[in-house]
Amino acid sequence: MDHAPPDGADTASDPVCGMTVRIAGARNKADHGGHTYYFCSPRCRAKFTAEPLRYLKPAEGAAKIPLIADLVLDDVARVGARA
Ligand SMILES: [Zn+2]
Repeated sequence: MDHAPPDGADTASDPVCGMTVRIAGARNKADHGGHTYYFCSPRCRAKFTAEPLRYLKPAEGAAKIPLIADLVLDDVARVGARA
């Protein structure tokens, strides 16, 4: 069968480099948050297991907390300057 859909159940996306990985017989995989992720190489798998959130949420979470901290620090600085 040559008509496998691109996002079918037999392939998965490597969250590190974006490559399409065959699930059948995959050697490089890791479980995270109840989901199994597949990788093109042991190197991509090692990168993911070291910092899973970096590859799962590129912009969210990591960026929001520092923004809030900046706002609070800004208020403190303003109050401090006024006094
Ligand atoms: Zn990869």
